[in-house]
Amino acid sequence: MTQDLKSIIERKDAHLRALTQMSVEMNSQRSTSDLMNLVSKQTQTLVGADRVSIMLVDPAVKQLSIVSSAGVDDDVIQSMHLKKGEGIAGKVWESGKPILIPDISKDADYLRLSQKRQPPPSSLIAVPINDSSETFGVINVQRPLKADVFEEEELNLVTLIGIQTAGTLRNVRLVSDLKDQIRSIRSAQEIGNVIVSTFDVDNVLRLIVRGIRDVTGADACSIMLLDEKGEDLTIRASEGIPEEIANCVRIRKGENIAGWVAQEGRPLLLSNIEEDERFECTAKGRYSTNSVLSVPLKAKGKVLGVINVNRLVSPRPFNSNDENLLMIFANQAAIALENARLYSKLEKLAITDGLTGLANHRAFQEQLAAELARASRFFQEVSLLVIDIDHFKSVNDTFGHQQGDHVLRCVGQTLQKLVRKMDMVARYGGEEFAIIMPQTPKTEALRIAERIRKHVEEQRWVEDDENRSITLSMGISEYPNDGHDPAVLVELADLALYRSKQNGRNRITAVSIEMVKAKEGDPK
Ligand code: GH3
Ligand code: MG
Ligand code: MG
Repeated sequence: MTQDLKSIIERKDAHLRALTQMSVEMNSQRSTSDLMNLVSKQTQTLVGADRVSIMLVDPAVKQLSIVSSAGVDDDVIQSMHLKKGEGIAGKVWESGKPILIPDISKDADYLRLSQKRQPPPSSLIAVPINDSSETFGVINVQRPLKADVFEEEELNLVTLIGIQTAGTLRNVRLVSDLKDQIRSIRSAQEIGNVIVSTFDVDNVLRLIVRGIRDVTGADACSIMLLDEKGEDLTIRASEGIPEEIANCVRIRKGENIAGWVAQEGRPLLLSNIEEDERFECTAKGRYSTNSVLSVPLKAKGKVLGVINVNRLVSPRPFNSNDENLLMIFANQAAIALENARLYSKLEKLAITDGLTGLANHRAFQEQLAAELARASRFFQEVSLLVIDIDHFKSVNDTFGHQQGDHVLRCVGQTLQKLVRKMDMVARYGGEEFAIIMPQTPKTEALRIAERIRKHVEEQRWVEDDENRSITLSMGISEYPNDGHDPAVLVELADLALYRSKQNGRNRITAVSIEMVKAKEGDPK
């Protein structure tokens, strides 16, 4: 064996050992940046280069940028971005094949890109980081001509490093995707836990937008809901959008991206909005972003709104994983909204009288306490009117219970119509009603009560009997002159009502000083 051959074999052996050692170290790297730093340093040592740069493809902007380097100036790192086919690295990306250039100072491609700086005479190797299906990036290695020009053997070595790097990079990305997915599932679970423990829908939606932003790495996320008519979308919760903008965004169903998704009820994933002709004029200005994902928020097949995520600057556009993830969050949001709707319906049922639709006794008690508390803060009067239908038993006896119910409903509606919006009409008992009148002194309450009495007396109530009139007896008490306590005011108003009955019915009695005194002398 000649001395030359022996040294070549020894060198190859050394390379193989170093490469094996390097791949072991590469496999223990947890992040892309750690992996790339290791590759650039090791390659520099292994090949004996003065400059190494590793460029990766950014799919969002479709260009190569330097992510790790050794011996390369900062301004080159910042400014070097190559499209496919551009420069030497761009050509390697395009062809997927390694290149060896003996002297870059004579290479037209290299010179065109580095007009300002005269490159030192050096040789260069550029190899793809690729596997059979994808090119992830390019490794560039440079050595000055005053040392040896790169040879075929070194080209092969760096090519192997490129292949090894691609395999490891794919693994690192898979692991990081898996971690993202686990994180997403955890986050969705946490939100699920909150949903079952609260009916505060705004809180849930806030958590959801925050969760989405965290797990998708979006710059902005919003949940938009359709208005009652189902025509316009407005933002109900958002992250990464200035409040003054979020407050005034309004998008018509069918318009722009969110409007399209609300109309179609289907998700929309755009990796680059600039390239989509459907959203030509309006959407581009609004989003000024590349990657957009929007999914519908549906409950029982009906679109309630839309969840949007945008990415302005990003290492990668949204993909179908993000879409699936967003659908999970959209389902959570839909459950939260549906729960809140059911809850408010239940709440309403609990305080509504089933026959008349008026407030029930419980709601009346709560409202009276609240109005008295408010009145005491603002030194205002509150009047309380209790109303009992006269001889109602005979209405039932003459026309039947069903007709009696009908009359009760009509009387309830009439009372509601004759009072102000701020007054509360409640069904107090069987054929008894009560009206709470805030900011109303007794004299004013008497005037309103008289209007009611007259109106009811004059109206015809029973279809089969034109002559049958309905009359009301009423009692009025007033805070603070007749009493401060809700129970006392109710009792006094009842007493006044009883007087109306005693005095012949179809009349109104306001609580008098004597009645108050009699009550004070007779505390129950
Ligand atoms: P007055 O108050 O003038 O003394 O006579 P009244 O006949 O109204 O007497 P009272 O208040 O004692 O009787 C109330 C009647 O109202 C008894 C009951 O049959 C009837 N009533 C109570 N609740 C309902 C109801 O939900 N539907 C119907 N149809 N009738 C009811
Ligand atoms: Mg009664
Ligand atoms: Mg009665």
